[in-house]
Amino acid sequence: MSDLTAGAAATEHPATGNPPAPGGGRTVAAAVPPSLVARLAAGVTATGEPSLVETVAPLTGERLASLPQSTPADVEVAFELARRAQPAWAALPVRRRAAVLLRFHDLLLKRQDEVLDLVQAETGKARLHAFEEVLATAMAARHYGRAAHGYLRDKRRGGALPVLTHAVEARRPKGVIGHISPWNYPLELSVGDVLPAFAAGNAVVNKPDTQTALTALWARELLIEAGLPADLWQVVLGDGPVIGPAVVEHADYVSFTGSTRTGREVAQRAAARLVGASLELGGKNAMLVLADADLDRAAAGAVRACFSSAGQLCISIERLLVHRSVADDFLERFAARTRALRLGGGLAYGADMGSLVSVRQLEATTRHVEEAVKAGATVLAGGRARPDLGPYFFEPTILDGVTPDMAVCGEETFGPVVSVYRFDTDDEAVAAANSTPYGLNSSVWTRDTRRGRAVGARLRTGTVNVNEAYAAAYGSIGSPMGGMGDSGLGRRHGAEGILRFTEAQTVATQRLMPIAPSFGLDDRQFAAVMTGGLRVLKALRFK
Ligand code: NAD
Repeated sequence: MSDLTAGAAATEHPATGNPPAPGGGRTVAAAVPPSLVARLAAGVTATGEPSLVETVAPLTGERLASLPQSTPADVEVAFELARRAQPAWAALPVRRRAAVLLRFHDLLLKRQDEVLDLVQAETGKARLHAFEEVLATAMAARHYGRAAHGYLRDKRRGGALPVLTHAVEARRPKGVIGHISPWNYPLELSVGDVLPAFAAGNAVVNKPDTQTALTALWARELLIEAGLPADLWQVVLGDGPVIGPAVVEHADYVSFTGSTRTGREVAQRAAARLVGASLELGGKNAMLVLADADLDRAAAGAVRACFSSAGQLCISIERLLVHRSVADDFLERFAARTRALRLGGGLAYGADMGSLVSVRQLEATTRHVEEAVKAGATVLAGGRARPDLGPYFFEPTILDGVTPDMAVCGEETFGPVVSVYRFDTDDEAVAAANSTPYGLNSSVWTRDTRRGRAVGARLRTGTVNVNEAYAAAYGSIGSPMGGMGDSGLGRRHGAEGILRFTEAQTVATQRLMPIAPSFGLDDRQFAAVMTGGLRVLKALRFK
């Protein structure tokens, strides 16, 4: 395999295009040798003589790995193994289970370079964006490692009869979680989301996307090294429409991250079995630049908001709403920063943006931009594929003059493309931001943070960031993250992020007298005593 950076250095970038990042770093072949692929592939539950699927490194288009594919029968085996291992794990005290997460946290930080290489090799993203996954995953491990006990401990609740009824709300594990994850954040979305499931005493059968399976398998190995019993986390691979439904078919609860279209299908299958599901889906997120925003900070923030992981981020910004009075000034700064972004794909820090993951993403991005331009949109920066850098590179792109008839206006692109719209009043901006069926993330920029929060409260999105793109809300792990509307159901992070993996059980113990006529009272007298009692309890402000 050739040096990953060779392509970037080989061709002069066009005068108006984004410059390539400086060279450096190692080759994919050196970072992901066949021995590592073979070791990780052994972690897939696939019996007999499994069929193999090849993945390629998006940065260069070179062959990356050949991975075994599971059959629906293998999925059944995976669930059996997980189901057998789960009761002993659930019987451990929460603190013992949480200690595994804390050890995982330390191992991940220590060995981050191994997984940064894998994430870059499998997704093509810049190393800085791969590091965001390490950051988010370590934060989740620390949070649930420290807080799981508090979330899960028995909670004393008001009983049916004060003093006489002792009531406790307990949390029991669901059992085996079916976890289906996409390719765009392969570390964070394979392991980050299920750390709380393990802390709550569950086992997991995970179906990551085959393209990014090595990262998930590496995370599994590391969690086992941190003390997780090996059978507790099964990984199955295969074609989504075949293996995905098999996972849903056996799961006690489904945790799904992916597109809205697939999410609907998963939800319907789960509903038919009466098992719960959390769905983290797509978005068409808006960033609002108010008239009093610090324009330099907002322009730098917009670059992160729109082009992190080449826009293949569910919470990235694809609609930029700017107050008309500052629009020209803001766009000049934003476009200049965007044109200066260095594109590249070395397995080292230094590039500002990497590649798209696949030809599918490249085609979808190209289609949105070309259709919009043909229909009259103007390109303020970028606008083209960059095959001189690698097969799936596309320049970070700003479009102006986008109208509702263009697909890029309402459909999720999931690429490095943002459309600019102008507004005159806060009401107009809020209405425009809320005008899609999605409701995942939003960002508001203003020097008046109180006003920013007030505008944010009117946005119909699961997370709102004031003076930050997405990382402030996503990184606040103690607080829930997820989507409204077509962006999903349920939340990761915070109490909801762990309680979704549990069943609530109320254990109530009655003392001294039954909740029924007794002590010689007839039915009428009992009803009268209880009626009086209810009035007294309300007057005493009992809850
Ligand atoms: P996708 O829906 O095509 O695939 C997601 C996962 O589902 C993959 O593992 C896939 O193999 C599997 N799958 C496919 N068909 C299935 C089926 N019929 N039944 C069960 N599983 C099936 O999505 P994608 O293109 O891989 O990921 C990109 C999408 O994910 C974008 O829309 C993005 O916004 C969304 N996303 C959302 C979040 C979030 O937190 N809200 C995070 C990351 C990505």
